[in-house]
Amino acid sequence: MDKLLHVLLSLPDEMIWGIFLVENVLLTFVVLYAGALVLRGLNRGAYVYTRREWLICGITNVLNTVVTYGGFWLWKHGFIGIRTTFSWNLLPDFLILFLSMDLLMYLFHFLIHKTFLYGMIHRLHHEAIDPKPMDLFILHPVETMSFGGMWLALLMLYPFNIYAILLYLTVNLVFGLAGHLGIEPLPERWRHSAFVRWLGSSTFHHDHHRDVEHNFGFYTTVWDRIFGTLK
Ligand SMILES: [Zn+2]
Ligand SMILES: [Zn+2]
Repeated sequence: MDKLLHVLLSLPDEMIWGIFLVENVLLTFVVLYAGALVLRGLNRGAYVYTRREWLICGITNVLNTVVTYGGFWLWKHGFIGIRTTFSWNLLPDFLILFLSMDLLMYLFHFLIHKTFLYGMIHRLHHEAIDPKPMDLFILHPVETMSFGGMWLALLMLYPFNIYAILLYLTVNLVFGLAGHLGIEPLPERWRHSAFVRWLGSSTFHHDHHRDVEHNFGFYTTVWDRIFGTLK
């Protein structure tokens, strides 16, 4: 990992922008492809996305690339510290990132629902009453940059383990896709287990698209339980 980071430092800026753009676009296609596979496995037809949806998804990818480069720039200039040794402490680091981002996004999400910001920013994402995988990327630019800004601000607070960061980013995509499948893929017997009830399942975020007064969390139901907004 150290070597990889060193190679990044030696590359020209244009190449780094290119690498981050390709990385974001590839991850988007992986998520959309995984979503299509899950839906096919559940005997649901694949979605055909409109030109407008592809365009918004493209803009989100460009902005996510700006956030990725922002993180790189902050790390290069010493504003973000990263620990690169693979050790057990990646688990507490992961849990801190997971729960902190869940709380920050809960608060931001609540704010954009309860103020004039809803019409200006968040209504776009809520055009989908029954979400589909690409809705994970159907976000207003202000929303995308705000989520990215919160993420980078959190990374500036403490030198997290790089493996915890990568694990968090992967889990973030898994939950993002799960919430926008438009269907609950978990077998009935799992749905009522304590584990699933405390985590944000597909149904949890789908219910938020159907009833915008509830379920503002993303990864867990913890903050909705604490603040009394759980459906
Ligand atoms: Zn919402
Ligand atoms: Zn959504």
